[in-house]
Amino acid sequence: MLATYRDALRAALLYLLLSVVWLQISGYLLNSFFDSSEELLRWQLINGYAWVVLSAGLIFIARARLLRCLGVGAKLRERSEDRERLRQAAAVFDCTREGVLVTNCEGLIVHVNRAFMEITGYQSEEVLGQRPSLFKSGRHPADFYRAMFATLDSAGEWSGEIWNRRKSGEIYPQWQTIRVIHDDHGRRNQYVAVFSDISAIKDSEHELMHLAHHDPLTDLPNRLLFTDRVEQALTSAQIHKRGCALLMIDLDHFKMINDSLGHTIGDHLLKAVAGRLKGMFDPGITLARLGGDEFAVLAECCPQLVQAAALAQRIINGLKEPFAIDGHQLFINTSIGISLFPSDALSVEQLLRNADSALFKAKSTGRNDYALYTEELTAHAQQRVEIAFELRRALDQQELQVYYQPVHDLKTSRLIGVEALVRWQHPQRGLVSPAEFIPVAERTGLIAEIDAWVMAQACRQMCQWQRDGVVLSFVAVNVSSRLFARRELYQQVAQVLHETGLEPACLELEVTESAVMDDPEVALEQMHRLRELGVRLAIDDFGTGYSSLLRLKRLPVQKLKIDQGFVAGLPWDEDDAAISRVIIALAQSMGMQVHAEGIEQVEQAAFLLEQGCDLGQGYWFGRPLPAAQLDWMHVPVVH
Ligand code: C2E
Ligand code: MG
Ligand code: MG
Repeated sequence: MLATYRDALRAALLYLLLSVVWLQISGYLLNSFFDSSEELLRWQLINGYAWVVLSAGLIFIARARLLRCLGVGAKLRERSEDRERLRQAAAVFDCTREGVLVTNCEGLIVHVNRAFMEITGYQSEEVLGQRPSLFKSGRHPADFYRAMFATLDSAGEWSGEIWNRRKSGEIYPQWQTIRVIHDDHGRRNQYVAVFSDISAIKDSEHELMHLAHHDPLTDLPNRLLFTDRVEQALTSAQIHKRGCALLMIDLDHFKMINDSLGHTIGDHLLKAVAGRLKGMFDPGITLARLGGDEFAVLAECCPQLVQAAALAQRIINGLKEPFAIDGHQLFINTSIGISLFPSDALSVEQLLRNADSALFKAKSTGRNDYALYTEELTAHAQQRVEIAFELRRALDQQELQVYYQPVHDLKTSRLIGVEALVRWQHPQRGLVSPAEFIPVAERTGLIAEIDAWVMAQACRQMCQWQRDGVVLSFVAVNVSSRLFARRELYQQVAQVLHETGLEPACLELEVTESAVMDDPEVALEQMHRLRELGVRLAIDDFGTGYSSLLRLKRLPVQKLKIDQGFVAGLPWDEDDAAISRVIIALAQSMGMQVHAEGIEQVEQAAFLLEQGCDLGQGYWFGRPLPAAQLDWMHVPVVH
């Protein structure tokens, strides 16, 4: 029950007095008046405020148990400071622009702030109880996270750049600090991650980098970036033993356009040239504007000069079409200097310098042309590019022909087969040897068409001979090593056999030893497929490659052709004689036929016959000739 009013007032005064004493003991000085609220009194002190409860109920309890009331007051002060700190922390937690995420010791998310939701796009209820791996971008390898946790373990804190994923799926960079929080007993009980979205910084960094490394007019890489790319390309080329080409391109008489039509039109033309050049190249090629009317091209995988020369020709041809600029039709010619790594130069500076001097050469020899670093190379490359260009026409205009060279049985001297050999009847240069154009056709990809055409011709011719009563066991065709491993070869052979109606056993495919041994597993598979068709298989130019006997044994091949290089010295050259003997013995032991090519003298044929060689081919028996000129009656007897 309530006491009298005087009792209550006395109790209150006593309480206040004791509170002051307690506050002084605690090192605080009562400063002035206090604010009040319904339950709490905030006492302003010299160094801040203290919160005390002063309620009627408390006063009456205080009256009876003053000491306990004092204790309550002390507790209240501590709690009130915590509460203040918490309020401040909550305000910081909520207002900060950095995202904050707190996980418990099991790694489950227990708190996130507003900025977290803004940055990630997730609402708090979507992530609470989840693991932070929810935000993984997939950009970092497992090692990255392992190292992060190792640092957290050892140092208690980790800071760094990390790519995470927003709810929208977008990946973004953030700068993140993670700290381990320990409880009163030193046990790890929480992780706090504070992060900021640095995509804007990254973007502007990227923009600055772009500006520093690109030409503002054309947006192509500038000299700085180009030199850097060349440097990288040479390092990689050295490791992978590849060739690179650097082409320096200069527009002929560009100054005249600037002088006569003005710089604005000049700029537009440069932009249009850059655009057209960009459209010409595959991704493996870097195009740059080095300044003025000078562009440069880096071809990172350019093993042969003929490819570099073909690329230069493509650029020259591509820029020949006029440019329509502000109502003007502008024609420009181009000069190109080519320098090759590693044949011309080994360093970036040397490569650039050599391309520059080649460009000077191209300009001084009449412009609108390309030049290589050495004149010899230039002439050679031009000839090959010409061949590549003309071969296309040769195919279209039926300038190619198939010649047939007889193959004889050495024991009986009987003509038992022919090898089909392609020839090019060039309108100006006369008969061109396949040794000259097959390698070019292989590099330009035209070989597929040529080989398909020769095969179809040979099969048709064989059918014709059969109809004419000529008895031949086989017609042999050469298969380029470039096509050997391709799936199309099988289809192509099957189709030709189907179309011509030739019995498969009458067709022999000659594959070079190196084509087989370069990738023996693929070769084995391909050969088995071809054998299933019923065609015969021979290894051409045997002895020039590096065959593994074990692999050779597994190949479904019926014949080895001894390379003519070993036949040339027979029978007097001891090495040639020894090699021929070994090849014959090898073929016999594996149940294969042996066929010697390049037999020009009867002594060679006699030696080979004596050693047990089955078949012979060469000028002594007969030169390759068009089908109509083959002499079936000619039977040279080997003694
Ligand atoms: P190969 O398949 O080893 O053909 C044999 C070459 O030796 C032919 O040269 C032939 O004319 C030549 N030859 C024949 N007998 C003698 C002789 O007694 N003495 C000398 N010195 N040479 C002789 P060819 O016709 O110039 O062909 C060269 C190479 O071109 C062929 O070597 C073959 O690898 C390739 N080739 C020819 N025609 C084709 C074809 O249609 N497709 C493919 N992919 N390659 C072909
Ligand atoms: Mg051959
Ligand atoms: Mg051969």
